[in-house]
Amino acid sequence: MRRAIDHFSMLRRDDRVLVAVSGGKDSLMAWDVLRSLGYDADGLYVGLGIGDYSAESLRYARGFAQERGGHLIEIDVPAAYGYDIPSGSRAAGRVPCSACGLSKRHLFNQAARDGGYDVVVTGHNLDDEAAVLLGNVTRWNESYLARQYPVLPASEGFVRKVKPLVRLSERETAAYCVIQGIDYIVDECPMADGNRHLGYKEVLNDLEDRSPGSKAAFVFGFLDRVHARFAADVEDERATLAACEQCGAPTPLEVCAFCRLRERAAAGARSGT
Ligand code: SF4
Ligand code: ZN
Repeated sequence: MRRAIDHFSMLRRDDRVLVAVSGGKDSLMAWDVLRSLGYDADGLYVGLGIGDYSAESLRYARGFAQERGGHLIEIDVPAAYGYDIPSGSRAAGRVPCSACGLSKRHLFNQAARDGGYDVVVTGHNLDDEAAVLLGNVTRWNESYLARQYPVLPASEGFVRKVKPLVRLSERETAAYCVIQGIDYIVDECPMADGNRHLGYKEVLNDLEDRSPGSKAAFVFGFLDRVHARFAADVEDERATLAACEQCGAPTPLEVCAFCRLRERAAAGARSGT
């Protein structure tokens, strides 16, 4: 993690850091290592209303915070915003992971701004980044490729976002948690079934078995040699954003995607869909 932080200039020593924790091995490892490296790092748990899975994952996030004396901020999406991911995504006509990802991105940024944090840390590891990269390359999604980088700098309305686990595989983060005695939720989210991301991970695991080092070569070859060719587009996109009429978040439209999701999910709940 130290190498990744230094290589990509992710953090300054005096940053106030907010780590998005899900109760899983990756985010809890990120929080643990940042604290042990001396960073001023708090945790943020976003409860998405995914039945028992959310209840369990909150238990692990709280358990870690209590045991190790960390400060954990909790946001309960159903209580605070009136929808949960299973019914909200249905009402909004989105697949669950799309509604979930949109909600988390918005709430991580909002919580960091509200709390005066400089940077949001997420627990994306090498396997995650390789799977997302394969998806983006398979579809040649240029704007996503432009944004796929372990550091997204702060800009008007956005705090900096960093991924300090980018060098580490899932097996390494699991091993770290076992060695450090960190309890984490092992079950996969029940909404992940059929998620394209998991299919890409299987393909990449197969490739890694046949040719060890492929995942790291794929991701770091892209980051070090190719990413810059796509990056200029992000600047252009961010320059054209204005504040959402409802919540103030940066958006290319009058009302941001999060507020539109929330409205459609609430309308769905009222009509019983
Ligand atoms: Fe959200 Fe999908 Fe991840 Fe579940 S699998 S937590 S729905 S992004
Ligand atoms: Zn909004």
